[in-house]
Amino acid sequence: MPTPSSCEFNLPERPETPDVAGAYPRLTEEQIMLLSRYGMGKHVAEHALLFCEGDRDCDFFVVLDGTVAVVHEADGEPMLIAVHGPRRFLGDVSLLTNQTVYSTAVAQRDVEVLAVPVDRLREAVSEDPELGDLILRAFILRRSLQAGVGAGLRIIGSRFSADSRRLRDFVSRNRIPHRWIDLEEDREAEGILRRLGIGPEETPVVIWKGRNVLRNPSNGELAGAIGLRAMPERRAHDMAVVGAGPAGLAAAVYGASEGLSTVVVDAVATGGQAATSTQIENYLGFPAGISGAELADRAVVQARKFGASFSVPGEARSLGMVDGYNVVRLGGGEELTAHAVILAMGVSYRRLDVPGLDRLEPASVYYAATENEARLCKGDPVTIIGGGNSAGQAAVFLARQAAAVNLVIRHGDLYRDMSRYLADRVSRTPRVQVWRNCEVRELVGSAKLSGVVVRDLRSGEDRPLEATALFVLIGSTPHTAWLRGQIPLDDKGFVRTGSAREAAGMYETCRPGVFAVGDVRSGSVKRVASAVGEGAIAVRQVHDFLATAGRR
Ligand SMILES: Cc1cc2nc3c(=O)[nH]c(=O)nc-3n(C[C@H](O)[C@H](O)[C@H](O)COP(=O)(O)OP(=O)(O)OC[C@H]3O[C@@H](n4cnc5c(N)ncnc54)[C@H](O)[C@@H]3O)c2cc1C
Repeated sequence: MPTPSSCEFNLPERPETPDVAGAYPRLTEEQIMLLSRYGMGKHVAEHALLFCEGDRDCDFFVVLDGTVAVVHEADGEPMLIAVHGPRRFLGDVSLLTNQTVYSTAVAQRDVEVLAVPVDRLREAVSEDPELGDLILRAFILRRSLQAGVGAGLRIIGSRFSADSRRLRDFVSRNRIPHRWIDLEEDREAEGILRRLGIGPEETPVVIWKGRNVLRNPSNGELAGAIGLRAMPERRAHDMAVVGAGPAGLAAAVYGASEGLSTVVVDAVATGGQAATSTQIENYLGFPAGISGAELADRAVVQARKFGASFSVPGEARSLGMVDGYNVVRLGGGEELTAHAVILAMGVSYRRLDVPGLDRLEPASVYYAATENEARLCKGDPVTIIGGGNSAGQAAVFLARQAAAVNLVIRHGDLYRDMSRYLADRVSRTPRVQVWRNCEVRELVGSAKLSGVVVRDLRSGEDRPLEATALFVLIGSTPHTAWLRGQIPLDDKGFVRTGSAREAAGMYETCRPGVFAVGDVRSGSVKRVASAVGEGAIAVRQVHDFLATAGRR
């Protein structure tokens, strides 16, 4: 059992926290018997730590006797997250994704635990997949509970700063529990900064483990500090995957499970666009829907289980060829060398071109509607632009917390570009008003959005709408600027596939061993299921390429 780094907590003893929606399940005697074959019983003295916020490679602990408090250090004070008693287990999803933990576990009294190293846990759950699913589901739920109570990192900065926005986006895309403290509005901001000796001009800052301060770190620096980033290995791989959205994750799961040494890089976070979707309802096998974040976390755990390695953030900047290998060069100067490369960079949402956007974008304009954005505009009126599924999902989701939702579409038929089930739901949601044949012409407000000007395209009449947040969900552009001149792209910048090489598969580009899948591929269907399907099929074609080229 790795020794936890030192930290002290003096908390009065608390009763066990009730199970919340399956986040704190109790294992059966049989499940504990199975796990005990893979771990060791341990005695932990009263007030001793089992792991500490910031630790990595922690064991998986099951409480056998006594109770363990899981706490978080919030601005100098310990904050209780949960107390676990006999047959409950500790930890969250970071245990399985090789990241640092965002909480500390303290024995309330002398405690007996079962400590199972994570590699051994993987073996144990392969014997009992139901147990594996129980643990994974609880871990994923715990992450969102942690985020809800404000555990994890603190980001302090002005809502008008582009760097504050960048850092908030980065941590929320990576599903890192955090709390955003706005220098302009939160009274406690000044007190925290004073206590830590930070001037307001040094913000945005990220506070980590309650007291470690990172002043306006780059995404890479932050990822390095919190153990998110693993440097890519220098050896040559069978397959390098660029982009960890559904297409790239599917390629990683199928490639690694079929014995290909696989490395995945993503410029921002695993999960891609799908991870920003609050509820995906049209993915096979999930009749009640699944959140994009959960789908992504499950896929990452699955790919890692089969041996795929991840390097995030890592942005591909160029593609070359050295000694017969494809080489992907990353922003930080690192290189990925592989026989085959799968391009799965997806797309990002288009920006608006209207007066007021540059001024108001950092504080009030969003390109996705996740829990995070919903929290920021709770009780406020919001406007959404777009007529596709992402706009429809955002409207239904934001209507739960916003005072009013105005959905602006340029044409007259809500059903034209939106799935029928979603358009029905939008029409039935009382707080959503659809403005058909309209477009947003101007954003109003000095530093923060106060409203938008909407033009009726048939009458030419302008009308002001109150709005404190604007969600722009109006189509996409592919992430292929870095490939221009290296790989054929279509007139909109999507990667062309279907090589002329004999026996090449439909996802291979004209460059041998380089494949493209998912939203970034010219002619693809822009859906989670099709991205996953293409990622999986491309792996078959990678096998064929390796065999034909005599590489395996
Ligand atoms: C809000 C929202 C809701 C949606 N809801 C649904 C739904 O309900 N059902 C459905 O079927 N579809 C839905 N979609 C569409 C679906 O998410 C996409 O079709 C799918 O994610 C495409 O997967 P992908 O892997 O091809 O690309 P993406 O998901 O776009 O992933 C691409 C990844 O590549 C990374 N990347 C980009 N450039 C580089 C680079 N140079 N180097 C390294 N990494 C890079 C990006 O950071 C990103 O993580 C939704 C999309 C959004 C935005």
